[in-house]
Amino acid sequence: MSLKKDSLVIHGGIDGDATTGAVNIPIYQTSTFKQDGLGETRGWEYSRTGNPTRAALEKLIADLEGGEYGLAFASGLAAISTVLSLFKAGDKIVVSNNIYGGTFRILDNVFKNFDITYTIVDTSNLEETEAAINDEVKAVYVESPANPLLTVTDIEAVAKIAHKAGKLLIVDNTFLTPYLQRPLLLGADIVLHSGTKYLGGHSDTVSGLVVVKDKELADRLYYLQNAIGGVLAPWDSFLIIRGIKTLGVRMERHVKNAEKIATWLYESGYADRVYYPGLKTDSGYEIQNKQADGAGAMISFVLNERYDFKEFFKHLEIVTLAESLGGVESLACHPASMTHAAIPENIRKEVGIVDELIRLSVGIEDADDLIDDLEQAITASAKERA
Ligand SMILES: *Cc1c(COP(=O)(O)O)cnc(C)c1O
Repeated sequence: MSLKKDSLVIHGGIDGDATTGAVNIPIYQTSTFKQDGLGETRGWEYSRTGNPTRAALEKLIADLEGGEYGLAFASGLAAISTVLSLFKAGDKIVVSNNIYGGTFRILDNVFKNFDITYTIVDTSNLEETEAAINDEVKAVYVESPANPLLTVTDIEAVAKIAHKAGKLLIVDNTFLTPYLQRPLLLGADIVLHSGTKYLGGHSDTVSGLVVVKDKELADRLYYLQNAIGGVLAPWDSFLIIRGIKTLGVRMERHVKNAEKIATWLYESGYADRVYYPGLKTDSGYEIQNKQADGAGAMISFVLNERYDFKEFFKHLEIVTLAESLGGVESLACHPASMTHAAIPENIRKEVGIVDELIRLSVGIEDADDLIDDLEQAITASAKERA
């Protein structure tokens, strides 16, 4: 039976335990498996190579993304570094100008040492993206919406550009999850996630996931997963499966809250700019609407200069000042000094990551409580009392 996404999150992958009837996949907390004779395994040998709990998660994420093959890793960056290990010295990757800081770091300080290099482009600009592709380039790497200005890239259009030149398209789908966006169906070759964020959903597990459609690509990635060894542990695989069961209800509430808060911020006069591709005024709105079922729950805004952004963070009561995103609780972060501090100041300002920029990961609390908290923290941070 072909299931719709709200059923798939609960019954996708391997639904329950065939041996005992347990409705949940057991945590196979074992490093190795008995062989009944030389070369006679029951399908499992050693847990780096394969573990039934991890395999259930791998099948589940493949089903959700509309792909064929899933792989689970110990973190988003373990997933990303395994994917980047597909390339060899002399290869080049075209990357979005606002990719996750850790992805930039591993390209710039690790893979560059192996002569796998990168070119940064604005992938929301299709001409610029196409112009950056040459013989050395082997892949285009995109996040949409991207961090922290929620820039939207037309995934289908970039897939066409990449494929015309015989290159791979890799999409980091962390911000939207397959509940809202399925890049493989838009033409991407590899989709990857930090499962630490919305998929786990409770800020309690670090993990990474990769999904592909193509068998040959999958075989190469399974080989690298086993060879490099950054696999997700059975217990953590269980936690991500458990998180995904409520992905549908969580994402619906996340998006509803984010839409309400973005609209309020836009109309409030407290913010000079609001970045949220769910707002009709946002430059990414149309493409976002075309390629996804919602704009997600990440919002960035520029606090008006009448307010002191450092004070604002101090006065928050429910919203927590912290790195990360995608959990049930709302978080606020200061990109210029936290997530994007590694970017030189002049470049940061040029792309719009000003000191007054505040990024919210909108949780699933009552939206009015969140608005009240933001408003009291903003008014308490006024530089001059009225
Ligand atoms: C957090 C994050 C990562 C890295 O994932 P970890 O689980 O922290 O290793 C990669 N991409 C995006 C978009 C992220 O938000």
